Amino acid sequence: MIPIIKPDFGKEEEQTVNEIIKSGHITRGKWTLKFKEEFAKYLNIGFCHTVCSGTAALYIALKAIGIDNKEDKVIVPAMSFMATIDAVLLAGGTPIVVDINESYTMDTEQLIEAVEKYKPKAVIPVHLFGQTADMDKINEICKANNIIVLEDAAQAHGATYKGKKAGNLGDLAAFSFYASKNLAMGEGGAIVTNDYKIDEKISNWIEFGNHPALNLRITEFQAGIGYWQLKKLEDNNEKRRKIAEIYNKEFENLPGLILPKEYPDRKHVYHIYALRHPKRDEIVERLIENGVGARVYYEYTLDKLRNAECLDCEFAHLLTKEIFAIPIFPALKDKEIDFIVETVKKVVKEVS
Ligand SMILES: *Cc1c(COP(=O)(O)O)cnc(C)c1O
Repeated sequence: MIPIIKPDFGKEEEQTVNEIIKSGHITRGKWTLKFKEEFAKYLNIGFCHTVCSGTAALYIALKAIGIDNKEDKVIVPAMSFMATIDAVLLAGGTPIVVDINESYTMDTEQLIEAVEKYKPKAVIPVHLFGQTADMDKINEICKANNIIVLEDAAQAHGATYKGKKAGNLGDLAAFSFYASKNLAMGEGGAIVTNDYKIDEKISNWIEFGNHPALNLRITEFQAGIGYWQLKKLEDNNEKRRKIAEIYNKEFENLPGLILPKEYPDRKHVYHIYALRHPKRDEIVERLIENGVGARVYYEYTLDKLRNAECLDCEFAHLLTKEIFAIPIFPALKDKEIDFIVETVKKVVKEVS
């Protein structure tokens, strides 16, 4: 079976992990510092804090911007990994769910509606599957209404919008370095911002000293692996894009199949290659039977999952029945890509 996602570690990661073991210095050391500096440099952003997961990053980001009680509304898109909405609930705020559009990111028409109706304190655009949300429009709406923009960039390391990297497109951003992400440490996350006031609030939540704080640190092992993963990120994203290009070309005219759309001025990093088809369940079942590790992303929407207040999320609800993903990762071999292409073609024709 070709897995849906496989992390790609090499000699550098191995040597670094060994070096850390031999040194005996396994946390709060040079690799943690190095990773933090290099990641900030990569994003061209002022402040970066590493934490133990993407969920923790979202949670701390929300606490840092003052999400505290039920009156604090936060707008999230209907389709994302559940951590996007759970972080809002854990912080104590009220999530408001809006639909997504054909880009699979937040629908800005609904955002306008939700801003008028709910007067939110923050908005969390999710750069779903590796393509950034419509950040110009989102920032314009939020600036005009004094709303903070927190990017959920957990699936978008290296993705760009008009040449600027995800993580540097709002007021602050949360990243995940979970094992399956484009930059993988096993577990890990980061909160980044250019705003020194927000940075200070983040520090208060995670650095011990004159205030109560949480220990959400990563170890030297995670940071050491992350350091090398970051060095390979641009190359690996290019490999993902090449594979997506092959898929896009090969699947162009298959009956009923809707391909992912890449928008102008947005560099998609294909964390997930998502397809749509009305007979999704049958296709996924047959792909797995044939040795292609297809998977459904996502079979739920956040409004239904957490019984949250929502606008009309009709498109996202339809997607939960039609969307699925096929393997895409940098270590995929040409032979495997050919096999995936042929199997998808065969299976889609069979169900038509
Ligand atoms: C993975 C992910 C998260 C959570 O990250 P963890 O490191 O697993 O806690 C949050 N949001 C999105 C969109 C994700 O894909």
